[in-house]
This record gives sequence, C-alpha cells and structure tokens, in this order.
Amino acid sequence: MGKDQTVLFHSTVFGPIHSRRLGTSLGINLLPDDGKICSFDCVYCEAGYNAQGTGTTGFPSEEKLRRDLEAKLSEMKEKGENLDVITFSGNGEPTLHPHFPTVVRITNELRDKYFPSAKTSVLTNSTRIFDPKVAEALRLVDNNILKLDSAIESTMRAIDNPNSPDFTVERVIDALKQFENEGIIQTMFLRGEHNGKKIDNTTPEEIEALINAYLTIKPRQVMIYSLDRSTPEENLRKVERDELARIASKMQEAGINVTF
Ligand code: SF4
Repeated sequence: MGKDQTVLFHSTVFGPIHSRRLGTSLGINLLPDDGKICSFDCVYCEAGYNAQGTGTTGFPSEEKLRRDLEAKLSEMKEKGENLDVITFSGNGEPTLHPHFPTVVRITNELRDKYFPSAKTSVLTNSTRIFDPKVAEALRLVDNNILKLDSAIESTMRAIDNPNSPDFTVERVIDALKQFENEGIIQTMFLRGEHNGKKIDNTTPEEIEALINAYLTIKPRQVMIYSLDRSTPEENLRKVERDELARIASKMQEAGINVTF
C-alpha cells in the first residue's frame, strides 16, 4: 500500500463532487462499502490492491441502490442544486455487480424523474463486455467509458494485472468493436516499476499499437490521462500534461478524436 493510503468509498451513493471537468457529479459504488472487488488489480488503482480483501458488506442490493439514490436526488432537487452527471465507479469494477443491467435501468429511471438533463457515465475495465447482457446495459449509459491501457499484451498485463489468463489484448480489442461510434476508450499513461519490472506505455511502439487499436475499435472518443492521486505501487510517475499533449497530437494526426 502506498504512503498516502489509497481510499475506499464507504457508501453506495457518494458526492456530489464538484469538478471543472465534469461539473457536479454524483458517484455510485456498486461494490462493497468496506472492501474492493475487481477483475483487474491495476498498479495505479486508487482503491488499493485486491489483496486488501473484499470486505463484509457485499454488493449493494438493487433496493438499497434505489433507496439511497432516490434519497440523494430528491434532497438535491429540494435544495435547488444542479446535477451534471451520475457516474458508476467506486471500489472496483461496476459491471461485476450481479444485477448490473437492472441497476442501470433504475439509475436511468431516477435520473429521468429528478434531473432529466443529467448524463450517466460508467468507468469500466472492459472485462465483462463479452457478456451480451452487460454490453447491452453499457449501451444504456450515456458515457460508456471503457479502459484500454495498452495494446501490447505484456504491458497490459504489467499495468492492469487481469485476474483471468483468458483476458487478452487481442480479445478485448475485438470485443470493443461492438461499441463503434458509441464507446469512449480511456487510456492511463504512466511510467515506473512494479515487482522489479519496468512499466512504460508511452514509448513509440506503445503509442503506435494504441493508435492501431483505436482505429480498429472506432470509438466516438478517446480520453487519455495520467496519475492524479496516490497509488498502491509507489514507484510510478505521472506523465505530465505537455507530454500528454504531444501524445494526443500524434493520435489526432491519425484521425482520432482524443481529449486529455
Ligand atoms: S480496473 Fe479500476 S477498480 Fe479495478 S484495479 Fe483497475 S483501477 Fe482499480
């Protein structure tokens, strides 16, 4: 665990958080309140490593989500507050929730009732897009943000540590094509070392492989970013904005709609 302890969200609905980039956003944590459940174990995960355990509270039920979200939305509405976006993120991978499609429907229904102009977003690691029911539910979310940190197998494994050996770059790129013109691909750039192994997904080979992957997937947008908060692996370095800008311009030259 890093020096500055990584943090868990201790509720199902959290926020609102105000940011320049997203405006006013409410978060939904579909994972336990006191542990982490994820099909990846990213070296940069803000929730810490999976080794901390899955906690005791389990996945929140659909009833709890409905109750907590409705209470928060009606309270915000009564106070005359504004809401720009509701985001599924939290202590792990949201699509691992056993009733993810139902949860998306409940959220959309409550959004329509209280803040019809707010968007819904999901941050997913793309491991569950092979399940047609999950893929269909992801399509019901306005901003379907799908992780692809490297298009080179050994780098993806070093950064993301997928739990399953069957999850490969080749398979995920192929499956991501189903979100052509709809999905948003998100790539985290970083450098450093983990377990004595060098990590760097900013090399020319990495950028070229990513550009080819984006051209194959044809997402509506690509979002690139770098480290922001503390990470479980301490030997990681942020890629600064001027370098992100250089990477973005290479992608733009290849015709990719990229933001950073
Ligand atoms: S996919 Fe997200 S929640 Fe899972 S380990 Fe990576 S950063 Fe953490």
